[in-house]
Amino acid sequence: MSGVHGKDSGLGRRTLLRAVGASGAGVLLSAAAPAAWAAGAPRPASVTAAATGSEAGRTRVHVLVVDGCRPDEITASGTPTLAALREAGTWFPQARSLPVMETIPNHVMMMTGARPDRTGVPANSVYDRALGRVRTLDRPGDLRFPTLLERVRELGLTSASVLSKEYLYGIFGDRATFRWEPEPIVPISGHAPDHYTVDALIAMVDAADPDVCLTNLGDIDRMGHSDLTGTTLRAARQAALLSTDRQVGRFVDHLRDRGLWESTVLIILADHSMDWSLVWKTVSGTRILAGDTELAEHMVVAQNGGADLFSWTGPDAGRSAALARAAALLEAHPGVLSVHAPAQLRLGPEAGDLVAYCAAGWRFTDPYVVSNPIPGNHGHPASEPIPFMVTGGSPLVRKGHTSSEPARTVDVAPTVAGLLGLGAPDGGYDGTARTAAFTG
Ligand SMILES: [Zn+2]
Repeated sequence: MSGVHGKDSGLGRRTLLRAVGASGAGVLLSAAAPAAWAAGAPRPASVTAAATGSEAGRTRVHVLVVDGCRPDEITASGTPTLAALREAGTWFPQARSLPVMETIPNHVMMMTGARPDRTGVPANSVYDRALGRVRTLDRPGDLRFPTLLERVRELGLTSASVLSKEYLYGIFGDRATFRWEPEPIVPISGHAPDHYTVDALIAMVDAADPDVCLTNLGDIDRMGHSDLTGTTLRAARQAALLSTDRQVGRFVDHLRDRGLWESTVLIILADHSMDWSLVWKTVSGTRILAGDTELAEHMVVAQNGGADLFSWTGPDAGRSAALARAAALLEAHPGVLSVHAPAQLRLGPEAGDLVAYCAAGWRFTDPYVVSNPIPGNHGHPASEPIPFMVTGGSPLVRKGHTSSEPARTVDVAPTVAGLLGLGAPDGGYDGTARTAAFTG
């Protein structure tokens, strides 16, 4: 580890640490305050192990998101590390992602414990009325609710974020005490490969030893989205699963080597799963509404793969009649599963005026029929089931247990807060602490 220095960046004044990752590559970590690294100054493994023994009662919590993984993809042969971790902890086979089943809102729900009508983050892509255009919710100011990452500071604890996707790093901004800025980024996919992300996570553990850490591993999701060859999709997906599984194993081995495993609670889950559609099974919300002149002129679509968000931009007087006509047209179309008012799904005004889900095996493509060529999508109910396990070496973890409770992404924050002794935010949680995963 070397090279702590200050830098005034677009994220404000911060302190950078140039660390060396396990593979020898440089890893750049940042912190809000110059003195922040002192608490986690690099220590030899022997010292760390001794320190762990002397800090009885300390619990380290890692939330590891295997982005886009389906629960049925965790198997002894396909993902041996994850399968073994599942056996060593508590598994929630009924776990679900929440609307809209997209990456940004579900990571936000994990860290806030609140639904999108309170966080302000209902989807990846929304129509921004002030700007008059569709955009990604990737700005720190888009998230209006306190997250665990800054709230743990009330207890004198530290947090870290190791996020492989540029837009996740964007929305969580400098909320964590320690952050990794994803690099190198794969062009088009906008994410860092898992190998680099786990290098950064290991460097983070060594340099900062955070009390709570959120990590996103993006490879499984990106492979599901971007492989276009059809026949080789399954093989490529399995290769991505195995590769990510090995990276999780590398992280767990590192915690064991450093003597940290026995104090670690590891929550592994996905933000949503994935549903694949054939090339002709597409629905264009824009095209469905094109035959109605008023709707064609005044309805804007924010396409989210498995969900389309519609916003009315015409005069208020015509709004309710227009929405009723749009809902009827959409509901009658093949491939559309259902149409909802955002409030029905606990989405706030940022979601627009109507939300349409596609059926399993279909996808939305907007504004044009060719706009979304990717076969793997989520955002719709077919992508709700997620893997969700609470595992780790901590004696608090209930081993070899399966719980039929309906765990959801929004349950992560209250579960972690319960472990750390952190109270609820103003107005309480929308999620439930999953205490079935713990002993005693
Ligand atoms: Zn995702």
